[in-house]
Amino acid sequence: MDGLKEKVRIVPDFPKKGISFKDITTLLKDKEAYHYVIKELAAGLNDIDLVVGPEARGFVIGAPLAYELYAGFVLVRKPGKLPAATIKYEYELEYGTDALEIHRDAIIPGQRVVVADDLLATGGTAYSVVKLVQSLGAEVVAIRFVMELTDLAGRERLSEFKDCDIKSLI
Ligand code: IMP
Repeated sequence: MDGLKEKVRIVPDFPKKGISFKDITTLLKDKEAYHYVIKELAAGLNDIDLVVGPEARGFVIGAPLAYELYAGFVLVRKPGKLPAATIKYEYELEYGTDALEIHRDAIIPGQRVVVADDLLATGGTAYSVVKLVQSLGAEVVAIRFVMELTDLAGRERLSEFKDCDIKSLI
């Protein structure tokens, strides 16, 4: 689709000075662009049991992708947000740590899973989601992003997932 990149708004100095935030809300409100993105992310994916997405923009991309693939959708959330028994993956930030959780019973071992999010930056978020899914015994067959910031080398961070097909559209 021509001009897809231009549909993402760049917001300087958000959430803090020096960061150039890629705001996909301007793409999401464009019905043709949103539809196109979901169809493209689904292309070539077959026999997928589940799409797993981290809050919050991973829901906005992952849930329609799951619907398109006739798969289920599983939420990954910040600690304390999921109501039933969870497992947690903690990861390092520049200062301190952060964590993500998934329901223990969200996935049956052996299920074929796609991880989806809006944006790949350093890869820390996607890495954590894949680790959570793998620790429940599932196979992550693909990771899909709308956008990738190639300078931040997120792909390198994900390079240990050799059998996983990684794709971004912008
Ligand atoms: P990473 O963990 O460094 O790869 O950062 C990716 C995660 O942070 C994703 O869940 C994104 O939603 C979010 N994120 C980081 N930078 C941006 C941005 O510029 N725009 C939108 N989301 C971002």
